[in-house]
Amino acid sequence: MSFSSRQRNEIPTSAEMRAMPNLPFFSEEHLMFQDVVDRFVEAFCSREYTREKDIAREYPYEAYASMVEQGFLGLCVPEAHGGMGADILFRTILQEGLSRYAFDMGAVYGLTCWGMDTLLHFGTQAQQAYYIPKALNGELRFSVSMTEPNAGSDLTRIALRAVDKGDHFLLNGQKVFASAAGSRDNVILLAVRTRPAEGKRHDGITMMLVPNDTPGLELRKMSTLSRHMSGTYECFYSDVRIPRENVIGDVHEGWKILGAFLVQERIGGAAMYVGNAQTAVQDAVRYASERVQFGQSIGQFQVIKHALADAATDIDAARLMTYHAAWLHAQNMPALKEAAMAKLFASEAGMRATTLGMQVLGGYAQLPEYDMERYWRDAKQNLVSAGTSEIQKNIIAKAIGL
Ligand SMILES: Cc1cc2nc3c(=O)[nH]c(=O)nc-3n(C[C@H](O)[C@H](O)[C@H](O)COP(=O)(O)OP(=O)(O)OC[C@H]3O[C@@H](n4cnc5c(N)ncnc54)[C@H](O)[C@@H]3O)c2cc1C
Repeated sequence: MSFSSRQRNEIPTSAEMRAMPNLPFFSEEHLMFQDVVDRFVEAFCSREYTREKDIAREYPYEAYASMVEQGFLGLCVPEAHGGMGADILFRTILQEGLSRYAFDMGAVYGLTCWGMDTLLHFGTQAQQAYYIPKALNGELRFSVSMTEPNAGSDLTRIALRAVDKGDHFLLNGQKVFASAAGSRDNVILLAVRTRPAEGKRHDGITMMLVPNDTPGLELRKMSTLSRHMSGTYECFYSDVRIPRENVIGDVHEGWKILGAFLVQERIGGAAMYVGNAQTAVQDAVRYASERVQFGQSIGQFQVIKHALADAATDIDAARLMTYHAAWLHAQNMPALKEAAMAKLFASEAGMRATTLGMQVLGGYAQLPEYDMERYWRDAKQNLVSAGTSEIQKNIIAKAIGL
């Protein structure tokens, strides 16, 4: 049934909600992949499973194992390394789908992709030969740890010290907010300072691979509002020995590695916000259709009807911006500004949609079994992680000449 022939009170499916017949960025293969992802999500990352894991604050190991089983980890890995060599639009479609019931589900997938992308571009042959097959078959997963107590938006302040001891580095210092760092078999992509900051503060940062069971590393789970499944950790390094072969790229040259995948990260983030915000709107529409007060469904009050129409419009716009940025990136065209705009707009649209959802569901919105509070908690965090809204605006302003 097409959208226009629907009867009032019939809630469109996810596929119908995102139907954009003229979306110029997709091939037939992309459209077929959307169907694969739809079926996968309902089977392995379902609403009930996601809710259960979020409430229990447990890493979604079963869903992750299914992603591995399905071959999703190798989606954008070159065929020479055992992957499928697909373009970034495929990954964007997958990340949008995985986040249907929680941003965090797409995030655990995205973190391992980030690790593999980094090694495929900057790693040694030995690192690629060791880590990529293990990441593809689920023997290990990656997390990324850059943030420190005094280095948030300004990562040039990274201070965790790594002293060169010849065949190894000795690490001392602290990180905060390292998502998924405490999950099983996790290898942390860690940004450290190998040379005291003098002059240009970008110099002297180095990236290293640190298995999370390395002696001297203590992880403490933080009690965050959002990201209950991946979990977010404080990491304390006391005389931690990291072999020299764990350095990624050149010593002191980590800054360019840190920056290399930010466009991709922002596009992936935007896709995940869109995927989750759409569910928030669908849930709110369903609730508004069913909830009767003053003798009619609350969705018939114009104030609610129009607010939900605005939210649906927001999400379509965010999706178009996201796939436009992904398409540019897939064509190897500059997408710095477009990715920042998509990330900014999609995260703010997600915040607006989930805040509206919290209002439409009234008091019931606060109960985990209605899911809206989870969408809303994660949406709040999405204005901060992967570069805050203010930082995205700084990037956009620079791109337009300010
Ligand atoms: C749940 C969660 C998960 C996270 N996961 C990870 C992870 O896996 N790995 C990781 O490395 N980090 C992670 N982070 C950290 C996250 O990336 C940082 O919180 C974020 O970069 C902002 O840093 P900050 O919190 O220190 O805020 P600050 O940088 O101190 O910013 C505070 C406020 O000042 C504003 N501000 C700062 N500088 C400017 C400026 N130049 N212009 C205008 N406004 C500015 C900011 O926009 C913000 O509103 C996570 C954080 C959370 C809460």
